[in-house]
Amino acid sequence: MKREALALEVTSVVLGACREFLVNEGFVELLPVVLAPVTDPLRTTPEWATITAYGRPWYLTRSMIFHKQAAVRVHPKIFCFSPNVRLEPVERAHSGRHLFEFVQLDLEVREATRDEVMDLGERLLLHVLSEVREACGQALRAWGREVPHYPRPFPRISWHEARREFGEDFEVELSRRAKTPVWLVDFPISEREFYDREDPERPGILRDMDLLYPEGFGEALSGGEREYEAHRIKRRILGQGLSLEAYGPLLALAEDGLFPSAGFGIGVERLVRFICGFAHVAETRLFPRVPGQDALL
Ligand code: AMP
Ligand code: MG
Repeated sequence: MKREALALEVTSVVLGACREFLVNEGFVELLPVVLAPVTDPLRTTPEWATITAYGRPWYLTRSMIFHKQAAVRVHPKIFCFSPNVRLEPVERAHSGRHLFEFVQLDLEVREATRDEVMDLGERLLLHVLSEVREACGQALRAWGREVPHYPRPFPRISWHEARREFGEDFEVELSRRAKTPVWLVDFPISEREFYDREDPERPGILRDMDLLYPEGFGEALSGGEREYEAHRIKRRILGQGLSLEAYGPLLALAEDGLFPSAGFGIGVERLVRFICGFAHVAETRLFPRVPGQDALL
């Protein structure tokens, strides 16, 4: 089978396996939101994509974080295959991990803890690997790739511990050395966005996490518990030098009442890249959007 066809088959099995797993866990699927009056601040991606419609600007969604927080007011377990547009700096074109349009499986659970969504994430990933092994194992083997088995639970290391042990480039180093997926937990408040919940028992430390793939494939997912109380959200927005007006729609929701929740987003192209053992996420898409590069179609 051609590489491009294999990537399509794996992607299709991945999407089906995620849906099947989550529906069995009691989740409902939301249709994606592409245009929004407010979107993820993502301070590491400073450029914004907007369009003007009906006399006002709309953001192309960078993630559905705020929509997820709003959606769990209606249903306790939600997920979405969410297309995101992020104008990544051109130097990220060669990271192997960045597109400027990609899809993440974004999910959120009302009143869940970080540990609960970490457990869910592990089971989801292992289910996906097992379904892909069954459906595409042979085709992948023909390309020299074996779908791996991993024991659970995956190991955890705190952000501070990882930095101490592996230095400045700890994420790269940790992913390169890992033999199984590994959790990076407890990021310092300065490293993340305002919506990740600060640990009430450990000021300055967040109740959040990333999952890193082994073999140097890097970040798989990011998530955590969320700030949901209006006064805390306000303090966090101001603490990052952002304006309260810009996040007016979120603050209005929070004043009205948000639930505590936890969730994560896992990049579909990065997952397929890892499964196929490809060098670049662009190889997983028929119509990739690589920062700074033109597209044929
Ligand atoms: P974030 O909340 O920023 O961590 O995004 C959620 C997930 O989406 C990440 O963990 C990645 O798997 C994936 N992702 C983020 N940015 C990109 C990108 N530029 N291209 C492809 N996948 C991405
Ligand atoms: Mg991330």
